[in-house]
Amino acid sequence: MTMKEAEFYKKLNDKKVHCTLCPHSCIIENGETGICKVRMNVNGKLKNLLYNNPKKFYLRKIEDFSVYHVKPWSYFLGLDVSGTNLVLKNDDLYNPEEDETISLPSAKVYSEAEKKKATGIILNEDEPLINYEYIKEVLKKSDKINLLRTYGYVEEEPLLELIPYLKGVVIDIKSMTPDFYENFYSADLDDILSNLKLLKRHNIWIEVFFEILPNMDESVYDVRKLTAWILNNLGAETPLHIYAKDNTKIQDTLKKMRKTSMDAGMYYVYLDLPNFDEGRSTFCPNCKKIVIERKSGAIINSLLDGRCKCNREIEGIW
Ligand code: SF4
Repeated sequence: MTMKEAEFYKKLNDKKVHCTLCPHSCIIENGETGICKVRMNVNGKLKNLLYNNPKKFYLRKIEDFSVYHVKPWSYFLGLDVSGTNLVLKNDDLYNPEEDETISLPSAKVYSEAEKKKATGIILNEDEPLINYEYIKEVLKKSDKINLLRTYGYVEEEPLLELIPYLKGVVIDIKSMTPDFYENFYSADLDDILSNLKLLKRHNIWIEVFFEILPNMDESVYDVRKLTAWILNNLGAETPLHIYAKDNTKIQDTLKKMRKTSMDAGMYYVYLDLPNFDEGRSTFCPNCKKIVIERKSGAIINSLLDGRCKCNREIEGIW
């Protein structure tokens, strides 16, 4: 295990430290970790315990990461890291240090991406941002298309420092009900939403991933609320991916959710269901024709320089 002194913390009296990486704002006693259990106070200094130790890396098609508007059908190097700062309250079993990790210095990530001819690198689950010092180096060393998949619960300053090295972000929104974040994770939804606005202001490409909860009534309301929020703050061109783990019995409801969101004005709402190619396809908001057709195991991309045949520009990184 490799440790590295953390960025974004303050030293306090009695060898305590104050971590300022995420809004949990943990005050950590000597020998203890913060909520994420990735950042530890070692003798009055805050250390990242998992520096250079991700879980794994692998090459996959970009669509497998629920990214539909970045270099379709190209291969990205996915990098999974351990730990999250959205830890369920009273989750005594959560311990990222017990995860199996590998030793992979940041320069090696880029050389692996080169070797595998990856179009880009995507920092993937659990929450890459809490392995901040490591992922920052990975991003700085890569001149490829760098993407981040995140829950977005981070302070503004550390996020701003990553922005010059990022092209796009996939944000996992768990709910649009503030009580949900507060009750389950002691977190504040507003912090996440304001980070999304910040990314948008800095021209970072954003795709939103929303997982439907078992409580369907709440989710129907959430999709409406999320749609309205995206339209008002990020724009209709932001792809929204609606996802449900167990989708077999609720396919009609999921299709209705997609329709509601599109009827409200969203251009690109995706739903990955069996026998529903329409849900994976990209339609031109102008002429309504399919511009990218995604079938299982194949893609037909009819974009020309990022434009539909009707000349309407389709938003994304093509
Ligand atoms: S990154 Fe970890 S230690 Fe730092 S404030 Fe967030 S949860 Fe606490």
